[in-house]
Amino acid sequence: MTTRFLQFIGAIQISTESQTSLPILIYFKVTDYNFQAYSRIDTDILITELQTSKRIPTTTEENEDCIICLETFKGRDINSLACNHIYHHECISTWLYANKICPICRATDL
Ligand SMILES: [Zn+2]
Ligand SMILES: [Zn+2]
Repeated sequence: MTTRFLQFIGAIQISTESQTSLPILIYFKVTDYNFQAYSRIDTDILITELQTSKRIPTTTEENEDCIICLETFKGRDINSLACNHIYHHECISTWLYANKICPICRATDL
């Protein structure tokens, strides 16, 4: 696993009430070692892709059930993942925010 982290270095200036004292310059450095921050960005890209690739179900697919909400695909937008499993657009978008994995086959390369 590669070590990835965000680093941000900045500075803020604090003015004091006293006219005689010099402004205080505080340097701060924020280092984010949160790996989830990167997977969150990946997830956002994935959800955006689902938004553009959503489609209406075919007549065959209409009668199939979405395994997330257990309702049929009829009359609602759907998405097929790279593994060819199909879900309602809303269902899989919500699911992928929490788990970046296919609920049926557990594929992570979506
Ligand atoms: Zn559903
Ligand atoms: Zn799958």
